[in-house]
Amino acid sequence: MSAYVHLLGTGASISDPHRTTTMLAFSDDAHPRSSLLVDCGGDALQRWQSVGGRLRDIAGLILTHRHPDHISGLPLLMEKLWLSEHEGDLPVCGYAETLDQATRCMEAFAPVTAEWEGMPELIAYEVEQQPGATVWTDAPWHITSAPVSHGDTPTFGLRAAHESGAVVAYSCDTAPCDAVVDLAEGGDLLIHEANGAGPGHSSMVEAADVARAAGVARLVLVHLPPGPKQEPLAAACDVFPETTLGVEGESYVVA
Ligand SMILES: [Zn+2]
Repeated sequence: MSAYVHLLGTGASISDPHRTTTMLAFSDDAHPRSSLLVDCGGDALQRWQSVGGRLRDIAGLILTHRHPDHISGLPLLMEKLWLSEHEGDLPVCGYAETLDQATRCMEAFAPVTAEWEGMPELIAYEVEQQPGATVWTDAPWHITSAPVSHGDTPTFGLRAAHESGAVVAYSCDTAPCDAVVDLAEGGDLLIHEANGAGPGHSSMVEAADVARAAGVARLVLVHLPPGPKQEPLAAACDVFPETTLGVEGESYVVA
């Protein structure tokens, strides 16, 4: 029995032909129906099935912020849950602005979905915009969050602690910031964006700086734009040797 974090997608809004938008999932073989999705800017459930996930095991959805490349697959996700063996409504955790956006996404299809009997509903759980705010507490995951630095868009990074004590952190979209250092402190794995240096985003080297400051065991880079990657990756490895590029569909054993 093992717990995993899965890289369902590793790209930026536009990326290489083999990378979709960045989406994650957490799962644990010993806890059926406890799997969590993080963001759905693409066909999250197709990607979830590609790593061996079952639709009925989805316990909830965490939305980090309201940008289209992190949220726009929501109506499709809900349609798939409705058509599958999934039971019950879907808890969705996010900041108030993100939940409002999610609701509007679903309302756009209301003239269609109103006639779909048994369509699951979103059960919104608002996350407080402060460091240490709780996102999810059902075993085996205890997930907390903190606001990160993504321009004017309210956005959180995550610290997912497995009941074994293992810790995975996720920066989400952000410029390098102390909040991610704190979220990842002493963790086993930091998944950090590397969209490129600039407002609201980070370069590979900047992500490596954060990983080194946090003292994590390993850094995996996601939200990757198109273009050459080996040279910036080598520069990042000079800062933090345990750095790798995220690979589409890769699963990491957490515990
Ligand atoms: Zn964004």
